[in-house]
Amino acid sequence: MSASSIVNSAQKPTPTYAQKALAKLGLVRDIDFALHLPLRYEDETHMTALRDARHGETVQIEAVVTSCEIQSKGKRQLVVTVVDGEPLGRGVACTLRFFNFYPSHQRALAVGERLRIRGEVKRSLLGLSMLHPSFKPAGGDLAQVLTAVYPTSAGLPQGYIRKAVWGGLLRATQRGDLSETLALPQLPSLQAALELLHHPTPDVSVATLEDRSHPAWQRLKAEELLAQQLSQLQARRERAKMRAHTLPVRIAPVGIRPSTSSDRTADGLPEQLLGVLPFALTHAQERVQREIATDLTQSKPMNRLLQGDVGSGKTVVAALAAAQCIAAGCQCALMVPTEILAQQHFAKLVGWLEPLLAARGLSVAWLSGTQKTKERREMLAKIASGEAALVVGTHAIIQNKVTFTKLALVIVDEQHRFGVAQRLALKEKTQGTMHPHLLMMSATPIPRTLAMSYYADLDVSTIDELPPGRTPIVTKIVAMAKRDEVVRRIIDQLKAGRQVYWVCPLIEESEAVDLVNATETHAALQAALHRALPSARVALLHSKVPALEKKALMQAFEKNDVQVLVSTTVIEVGVDVPNATLMVIEHAERFGLAQLHQLRGRVGRGLAASACVLLYATNDSGKLGDAAKARLKAMVDTTDGFEIARRDLHIRGPGEFLGARQSGAQMLRFADLSQAPDQAWLKWAQATAPVMLDSAPQMAARHIERWLPSGASFMGA
Ligand code: ADP
Ligand code: MG
Repeated sequence: MSASSIVNSAQKPTPTYAQKALAKLGLVRDIDFALHLPLRYEDETHMTALRDARHGETVQIEAVVTSCEIQSKGKRQLVVTVVDGEPLGRGVACTLRFFNFYPSHQRALAVGERLRIRGEVKRSLLGLSMLHPSFKPAGGDLAQVLTAVYPTSAGLPQGYIRKAVWGGLLRATQRGDLSETLALPQLPSLQAALELLHHPTPDVSVATLEDRSHPAWQRLKAEELLAQQLSQLQARRERAKMRAHTLPVRIAPVGIRPSTSSDRTADGLPEQLLGVLPFALTHAQERVQREIATDLTQSKPMNRLLQGDVGSGKTVVAALAAAQCIAAGCQCALMVPTEILAQQHFAKLVGWLEPLLAARGLSVAWLSGTQKTKERREMLAKIASGEAALVVGTHAIIQNKVTFTKLALVIVDEQHRFGVAQRLALKEKTQGTMHPHLLMMSATPIPRTLAMSYYADLDVSTIDELPPGRTPIVTKIVAMAKRDEVVRRIIDQLKAGRQVYWVCPLIEESEAVDLVNATETHAALQAALHRALPSARVALLHSKVPALEKKALMQAFEKNDVQVLVSTTVIEVGVDVPNATLMVIEHAERFGLAQLHQLRGRVGRGLAASACVLLYATNDSGKLGDAAKARLKAMVDTTDGFEIARRDLHIRGPGEFLGARQSGAQMLRFADLSQAPDQAWLKWAQATAPVMLDSAPQMAARHIERWLPSGASFMGA
């Protein structure tokens, strides 16, 4: 964002690349651009004299270059001295530093060049300095309006996105796309509001723009909330017309072993399952289990999210729902995001359910993308004949080759990891007019204020209690340079008979590099441990390990034949080894907060004290970014998944919706339901939506279309 416009124009991305990047930001139609609002504003309407610049202030200056050299002592950098004043060169000096620079920088920053420079001023004993300021030739008019700074993504320069947004706004205005769909006389029109937010005049208070209390912002929030309520209401009305198989329950108090008598409609499978579980359900599990069981008895399809922190025991609740479905003579599909997880679920569910199913002449089928053709064919036949009452697998489950006889319940684990296409395919697994009940599970809880709005059409069950006997996990942040200390810690754990996870990051763009890193880490760890504990086994798991080998490795780790598991993030979800007490995450600064929390949740599952070590490395300029710092701090501060989610939202801010949009769910971009005024707008929208949908359906449709990119829907809609 702070990169110079000169350098940027030299590296302008090709149109297809730019278009792709824009589409990733959800920017396709003109209206999308018009609704892409500034994150903040820069005041380029005046110039500051360096003499008056305060430490930490972002200023615009004009100055002449008096020296420009590459220093290679320490970290290689381009160091430029400039002097401002009237005339230029008579004022105060300031040092500009660039750690990433190109020959074009050196040309533009040659001695004698007169520049207009913008950046954050640092004052120290050595004088004034700026790190990576932006610059362009001096002179030219000062801006008349505040300069908007837009949310962007890697590779899309600010100048480029600004131009694109303004172009979209202009075309949308000219075409009449911004004409009013609703009357809100106390606020500016949509068009006036957008004009003001994109091009605020200097007399507008920047504070009211940045804290979003300005009437123009109110207008946007009101419109957005109305769109959300309209689309959810519409979805709810459509869903009310759908039918689903009713899956009766036998009225028996949960947790009590049933008698052996069986009747046709409900043959006691859930009760039998409870009987074979090695533990009793927690109160929270019982409560959510009842909520789900009741939904399944209805003839309208369930649409429920089961949320609960990592390790809260969602699997068994899912298994009970599956049992209710199977007991009614129907089929249940359990969809999981990764192969490893599929196997884990498979193992657990098979252990619990298979003997009970076998007694009924039924079985469990497993489907995955990497399965041998012969095995797959057998599984497909079992599903088509109805012999497989439960089908566990990755998204291979929803491919069209899979034909169910009577699919009544679909359970999706880690639902946030599935994309739009997969969800749509899932919806199409309806048979005739019958829709399957849908149970989605997530370990990434949604803060309550958000849940009440996003999930208007989705019922939410929350497991807010962990099974007994868990010990709190201590989290430590350690610089990568102190890796040796961590190795000593590992040795201590191994000597105590415990096991350890070591996670290396996997970044899609450079998978090959990451594999090399993981391989090196594995080798180094093996060597270090070998000296202290010759018997310790260290295994390496990554995406290129063949499925069978992966399975064998996981089993070896589960049986404690392997003590240290080095892996890329494949173990992210669902792995359950209670004897593992230490989780080391390398390059923790690269992980998202939700991911870190998930990974940490792999330990602390047994009685022994557990710890999580977050190893971090600093960036080129020897620093940790603010967001990375905030993420690591959140991890140290709390192990509560809800608090983590709240902080995550706070840290990610407006960028949040981008990721969510990719998974098909539209988060609120502008309204913030933790704020009282926005809650009032939500109430207004909830009251207005039904009236508008009934009395002005075409206007309502236009309003939804404006706010929702085609194909997307608000979460739960
Ligand atoms: P998650 O919610 O993360 O999917 P799991 O379903 O994998 O959690 O459960 C974590 C672990 O806790 C598993 O080993 C599971 O068998 C165990 N577990 C689940 N419920 C209980 C309970 N009520 N009492 C004791 N252990 C339980
Ligand atoms: Mg789970």
